Amino acid sequence: MEDSVEKQAGVPLDFLGELRRTHTCGQLRAAQAGERVLLMGWVHRRHDLGGVIFIHLRDRDGITQAVFHEDVDPVIHQKAEMLRPEYVVAVEGVLARRTPETVNPNVETGEVEVQAAKLWILNVSKVPPFPLDETVNVGEDARLKYRYVDLRRPQMQRNIILRSRISFAVREFLTSQGFLEIETPFMTRSTPEGARDYLVPSRVQPGSFYALPQSPQIFKQLLMISGFEKYFQIVRCFRDEDLRADRQPEFTQIDIEMSFPQQERIFEVVEPLVERVCRVAGFEVPAPFPRLTYAQAMRSYGIDKPDLRIPPFHCVEDLFPGSGLTGDGLPLVAIRIPNTGAPTRKERDELKIQGQERGLRVYDDVKRLDRDFPEPMAALRERTGVTENDLLLVAGWTAAPQGQRPEETVLQACGQLRLHAAQKYNHRHGLLDPRQFRFVWVLDFPMFEWDEQESRWNAAHHPFTSVHDDDLEKLTANPARCRAKSYDLVLNGVELGSGSIRIHRRDVQSKVFAALGFSEEEARMRFGFLLDALEYGAPPHGGIALGLDRMVMILAGETSIRDVIPFPKTARGTDLMCDAPAPVPDRQLRELGISVTKR
Ligand code: ASP
Repeated sequence: MEDSVEKQAGVPLDFLGELRRTHTCGQLRAAQAGERVLLMGWVHRRHDLGGVIFIHLRDRDGITQAVFHEDVDPVIHQKAEMLRPEYVVAVEGVLARRTPETVNPNVETGEVEVQAAKLWILNVSKVPPFPLDETVNVGEDARLKYRYVDLRRPQMQRNIILRSRISFAVREFLTSQGFLEIETPFMTRSTPEGARDYLVPSRVQPGSFYALPQSPQIFKQLLMISGFEKYFQIVRCFRDEDLRADRQPEFTQIDIEMSFPQQERIFEVVEPLVERVCRVAGFEVPAPFPRLTYAQAMRSYGIDKPDLRIPPFHCVEDLFPGSGLTGDGLPLVAIRIPNTGAPTRKERDELKIQGQERGLRVYDDVKRLDRDFPEPMAALRERTGVTENDLLLVAGWTAAPQGQRPEETVLQACGQLRLHAAQKYNHRHGLLDPRQFRFVWVLDFPMFEWDEQESRWNAAHHPFTSVHDDDLEKLTANPARCRAKSYDLVLNGVELGSGSIRIHRRDVQSKVFAALGFSEEEARMRFGFLLDALEYGAPPHGGIALGLDRMVMILAGETSIRDVIPFPKTARGTDLMCDAPAPVPDRQLRELGISVTKR
């Protein structure tokens, strides 16, 4: 019972009364020495040196030391003896400079301390479930169960405060550019982002359901049709997707839509917005960001979200005609990872296996390639700029891969091998520096993706995305080669946002639905109201959505989005603190006309 609040009930508690703070715990400096100050906060740490007690008093702004001397004031010293971590207190006293030996250069308030003259204990606390020192590694389940305590940790306070400052900067910037912040409903009809919807049953219309929005996509388009011209919203989206380590069922987007834009107009808004946001976190990023078409990204990185901190790979099949190193018409790829030093035999074998697992044939024996193909290899060296100190892998695909775009299958496998090698040897080359921000736009995505299981085309972005002006005819003739006016903003290999120029003509929308295999009735049933709206003077429009959680995560230097969301769910979609999802009483289900069958 060491930690029970009952046991601590013996501690006499004081009222807040009219007490008022004079400063926060992060504000005081040597120049203010001599002032009388009153601070409030939590006891972060207590050092009891017998006649002297030191308290580290913490609030959201920082930590300030308070000192209680027995020989100066035995009564308050005795009261300070009762303090334990996370007690809530107010301390009043004169601010003093610390003696030179006791100055702590690691904290901003480290030159001063409060010579406590008064102490109010406003509340007690159980022993916290884990220490709040940043250095202590605490299991995530405990952190999520006691999230209110976890959020007090300086690291979490910093992250949530950064998030708030970023949201403010977004609002400030977009408003200054003439964007209006407009809310869209949370209880709505299914939206088209391709994941499952979370459903909300209607009590007054039993058997009918609202869907929580996967994004405000249709509403923001309707707002353009309604003539608002520039819209934004920092908005929660809900997607019932399969569980993945760093996915949240609800997440936040910076959602943007404009009328009459080319995609360059969208970039002109997003680039300075992102510059601003990075500056809030203390980073300068040079805009404009480079642009790659999807085809270029695939041929240089083998992925549609390239990490530009690692150099691109090079397609070299033209240098090795008739060599049999790769299948006919398929790419042969030279992957260079700089400054790794020569790989050991074991490392080469491992890379080979990694390639094989992805369907690739990896030629890791550079000496042998030099011997067998001296001229092509000289040209390869020239093209890739490879040096003695770099890792070089040449990879091809000997049998023809399946799929609608077989060359892409090969490039993708090479892209994965490149990333694997870069990550594996990062400790040697240090390319993947988390404080280096390499943004890139990826443009001209394919319009459609082939769904192997259903044997049909799906919209690669969503079905309201415009087809490239030059590819309108290919909609039915050659969907595999049809490009969309869609674009992604990518940062260090992470997709930060995606958007598109939308279809604003009813006839084009019908063609796209037809290419997607939606019957007119199906389309009407799902998105009839949008189709109707397109018939009432819809302006050309387009937009983007940027993932706020990911952006804050990267800028905060975190690796999990859970560390920048105040109350996140686990990878299994559970809220460990309030224990959701949870069954509800039968009466509640009956009212909704719902009966639950066990699976
Ligand atoms: N609604 C899209 C999404 O959430 C973004 C967009 O097209 O603006 O991915």
